[in-house]
Amino acid sequence: MKSIKVHDKIFKPYIEEKELQKIVKKVALEIYEDYKDKTPVFIGVLNGVFMFFADLLKYYPGDCEVAFLQMSSYSGTQSTGVVYKKMDLTKEVKNRHIILMEDIVDTGNTIASLFEYFQNTQRPKSVKVASLLIKPEVYNKEFKIDYVGIEIPDKFVLGYGLDYDELGRNLKDLYQLDEGRINH
Ligand code: 5GP
Repeated sequence: MKSIKVHDKIFKPYIEEKELQKIVKKVALEIYEDYKDKTPVFIGVLNGVFMFFADLLKYYPGDCEVAFLQMSSYSGTQSTGVVYKKMDLTKEVKNRHIILMEDIVDTGNTIASLFEYFQNTQRPKSVKVASLLIKPEVYNKEFKIDYVGIEIPDKFVLGYGLDYDELGRNLKDLYQLDEGRINH
């Protein structure tokens, strides 16, 4: 794998597709262990989650349903700290067991806002959170991310659904910004 240029920045190879798939399968089976006798609703937080979401469901051996909504807090390679709900939830989840699916948890602002939104307005029976990636050095919230694929350092990543100003989402592998983090 080679380094790539996206917009004005260079990204170096970080986690290859084969390794990502192993991680995703592990998370799918971990979730299944807890939901074997239930029909959970997997909720994809768009846009970044679409690859993780699709791959995880292919490895999920049980009954399940899906729904989506869209949140945004990022501009370029920096979090704005303000989280917007850009799109309404596509399904009623009252009294359902839901699993919120994120591509990456950084500060935790997005997932904290979502958690509050679901608890206050949707009345699900239970809520758990799954994220492919988490940056423990930046994550500053109390509540537990129930299922984590892999912990990564505090550096901007790209590919496998994650973008840099809308480019790079279609890359099969994960890349990391070459010059490290830019002021958050
Ligand atoms: P948080 O609200 O936890 O700070 O950030 C969550 C959202 O920020 C993610 O859903 C993702 O869209 C974006 N984000 C956070 N870190 C990164 C990163 O390293 N790369 C990319 N492409 N997006 C990120």
